[in-house]
Amino acid sequence: MNLIILGLPGAGKGTQSDFIVKKYGLIHLSTGDIFRNNIRNGTTLGIKTKAYMDAGIYVPDEITNNLVAARLLQSDIKTTDFILDGYPRTIDQANFLDQTLLTIKKPILVLYLAINEQTVIDRLSSRRVCLQCGRVYNLKFSPPKINNKCDIDNQTLIQRSDDKETTIKTRLEIYKKETLPLVTYYQNKGLLKTIDANLENDKVLATIEQYLLENDNG
Ligand code: ADP
Repeated sequence: MNLIILGLPGAGKGTQSDFIVKKYGLIHLSTGDIFRNNIRNGTTLGIKTKAYMDAGIYVPDEITNNLVAARLLQSDIKTTDFILDGYPRTIDQANFLDQTLLTIKKPILVLYLAINEQTVIDRLSSRRVCLQCGRVYNLKFSPPKINNKCDIDNQTLIQRSDDKETTIKTRLEIYKKETLPLVTYYQNKGLLKTIDANLENDKVLATIEQYLLENDNG
């Protein structure tokens, strides 16, 4: 069971992926997380990608495609399935991924987290993260116990640079133009499962689990 998780920024791709990864032992491949880690560690990839990330625009396809293909060609992928979170995000990336999947002989299913735009605007603008442990909070919906401090390690929470209001607008516009066409792309291939992501996290997860149970041939 190899999965792609697709949806607007703030639809809950990261949160749901974390649950799925823990439950099914999949390899979690989040391009956003990989870019952020590289930026934090000052790597060449991080230096190349920081300006795009901060502005909320997509990193060029060539960089992202090569990064993901290199990871999918590593030997652990032969024996362990994976979930792609935040990739593909353009039709070019989807075409490129199709070739890579043929090479590694892995079929995929696509979980599409469908959500209202206003809901994600509310979620993203009040999202805060702990840089130390990666835990994600929401000041309105899942606040930390102590104001602005991580429950786990007491670090001060920060707002992602791309979660500022003007950048959120850019990200939503780019998503609609570049990424939304992937819904039709995977629908036409019969690989898409639409999940109502307006509901609470555990309800969304329950729907996903039910679907995976029905589709687990292994
Ligand atoms: P979100 O889904 O909330 O926007 P991500 O962490 O998935 O958050 O992505 C954050 C940023 O990382 C994107 O705005 C973009 O700059 C970059 N990025 C992540 N994945 C891709 C991708 N597949 N193609 C191009 N850029 C990407």
